[in-house]
Amino acid sequence: MKIARLPNGSPEVFHTLQGEGISTGVPAVFVRASLCNLHCVWCDTDYTWNFEGTPWPHEKDADPNYTKFSKDRHMIEMTPADVAAAIREYSCRRLVVTGGEPLVQQEEFIDVLEILRDWDHRWIFELETNGAITPEPDLDRIISQYNVSPKLSNSGNNEDLRLNQEALTFFAASPRAWFKFVISSPADLAEVAGLQSQFGLDVERIFLMPEGRDPKTLQGRREWLAEKCRALGYRFSDRLHIQLWGDERGR
Ligand code: SF4
Repeated sequence: MKIARLPNGSPEVFHTLQGEGISTGVPAVFVRASLCNLHCVWCDTDYTWNFEGTPWPHEKDADPNYTKFSKDRHMIEMTPADVAAAIREYSCRRLVVTGGEPLVQQEEFIDVLEILRDWDHRWIFELETNGAITPEPDLDRIISQYNVSPKLSNSGNNEDLRLNQEALTFFAASPRAWFKFVISSPADLAEVAGLQSQFGLDVERIFLMPEGRDPKTLQGRREWLAEKCRALGYRFSDRLHIQLWGDERGR
């Protein structure tokens, strides 16, 4: 299976605090899958999919220092047993499976999670997903919490790719799913309201999170977005890891 690779050559498996959503501030081990089925123009983990030779645009294309990523340097091929062993090096028993989009490799992640659960039944598994792929029953049985972040038009993805009716219906029906929307401007709120209505999402299950890869950008969006959450009843999510560590990898 394909895991994001850190600059030091190690797989991107690290122990930190969850930075977003309902588990913000909770210590967890993270494993970052490589590959994604979407290509968001503001993606801050673009090294998982924006590889040399691909046609996808990114906001940073205008920066002369920005180049597409080498697969050899930014992706590592591992067996599920090796991934589980890397995760087991930490004593924490909460795992966040993130990406990229982990559901692109869900068969492999089922193996990883089953190895961990067979070893210690106390594991809590969070899965972070863009909500455009439906989990298999064997995965659904083992996941404790879904952090679903359906992408809006501000992501630059075509609607037929980013909004999968079957998958979003599945997540809407799961009591273990929380929804987190990345907000760039007030105009995005109408799209959130449309999806909320279409899939019958309770306002209590929805987080609005400012888009931003640095503290200054987040600050510029935080105040008006927090006020919108207060007025409309949504939960607000900050990006704790950006506040603490900027966009440093493996934190
Ligand atoms: S879905 Fe997530 S990982 Fe994939 S391109 Fe968008 S922000 Fe990046």
